[in-house]
Amino acid sequence: MNKNLLKDIDRVWHPYVQMEAYKEKPTMIVEADGIYVKDIRGKTYIDGISSLWNVCLGHNNKKVINSITEQLNSLQYFSLYGYTNQPSVELSLMISDITDNRYKRFFFTNSGSEAADSAIKIIRQYFKNKGEANRTKIVSLEKSFHGVTYGAISAGGIPIDSQQYKPVLSGFIKIPPPYCFRCYYNKKYPECNLACGNKLEEVIIQENPETVAAFMAEPILGAGGIIIPPKGYFTRLKEICDKYGVKLIIDEVSTGFGRLGTGLGIDNWNVKPQIFIGAKGISSGYLPLGVVGVEEDIYEAFLGDKKQLNHGFTTSGHPVSCKAGIATLRVIKEENLIKKVKDKEVFFRKQLQQLMNISIVKDIRGMGLMWGIELIDKYDVATLTYEIAKRKGLITFITDASNVIALFPPFITTEEQLVRIKEVMEASLKLAEERVKIMLK
Ligand code: PMP
Repeated sequence: MNKNLLKDIDRVWHPYVQMEAYKEKPTMIVEADGIYVKDIRGKTYIDGISSLWNVCLGHNNKKVINSITEQLNSLQYFSLYGYTNQPSVELSLMISDITDNRYKRFFFTNSGSEAADSAIKIIRQYFKNKGEANRTKIVSLEKSFHGVTYGAISAGGIPIDSQQYKPVLSGFIKIPPPYCFRCYYNKKYPECNLACGNKLEEVIIQENPETVAAFMAEPILGAGGIIIPPKGYFTRLKEICDKYGVKLIIDEVSTGFGRLGTGLGIDNWNVKPQIFIGAKGISSGYLPLGVVGVEEDIYEAFLGDKKQLNHGFTTSGHPVSCKAGIATLRVIKEENLIKKVKDKEVFFRKQLQQLMNISIVKDIRGMGLMWGIELIDKYDVATLTYEIAKRKGLITFITDASNVIALFPPFITTEEQLVRIKEVMEASLKLAEERVKIMLK
């Protein structure tokens, strides 16, 4: 085996990976350009998931690289504790712009998990500052994913993320997700009358409304299996929240900044949360960056004696990361990528639907450039398909909670390349189907 790979196995502990199995097949990526990445053995892959739906602009974007380099040549770092820097100011204005000026106040973090924990701390302190100290509880969705820090796993609803790390924080309550394909109530939309959404009201009343601070959710549950809430879902939930003075926190880490063909993913449901969190696509993954955006009423509650937010990271508002964010949002605007993602949704949907006639495929769903292929829940077909696709030169992702293969191509993926992704998926799924048939003989 290559010397570098041996050193990797010897020293590096990889996230969410069984190292015992990993050491049989390490893959070191050494170069990347556009939608393609190359490993140390010289094999090229299509990055079908934008490297964990992070590198939304694709790899090796010179505009982003040049902006970062320019910033490194002027100010590399200075903290935001009592000082400021030009990139964090400019980026804040650009985030206001991409969110139609609904948000004017931004708190910067280094990751989505940190943004989730920051939002939880902000909302708890908000109510304390307002004289409602008992409002501490957070309601969220089973199968949701908000990151890996303690606040995030307390809100998250995927058991493997928290099981081994208990006790998690107190004051977190889960309700069923809007998983129409496998409805928790065995009902059909719209006759269900949004039973899963109405559960929020039941829980708020049961807990005592004066103790509930926020409802937190992703617009589309990503790690939970690309679960897309039906029309009207978030409108109903926002109505319930407003009725009881509960705030809505939307996690846009995987869906924000163009991934769903809109500024924020939640725009597809026409609902305005009081708080949103973002990361990943905001800087196209070129440097770590996360953000919490809040409405004015939340921000204003922190003004005044003994009300300041006693929370922050050394690298909050890091100028070089913020510069990566500025360059990313500029490219998105200049190249009209949000509109292009919406157009590609229509094209990709038609392509992927052709896979529905493969017997191991149960459902195909998506929005923008965030797609999931749900497979039969047997024989570990998702892992099998993932391995075959990788061998054929396509990197995909198996979501944590379900038998769903995810595809999140970069925004710059051409129609021709989307067809290629479909073709590799088709060949991989058919091979997996064959293997299952042989197994069953
Ligand atoms: N929220 C969502 C919806 C995510 O998809 C992720 C990452 N997959 C996170 C939060 C956590 O982000 P990070 O890995 O940057 O901490």
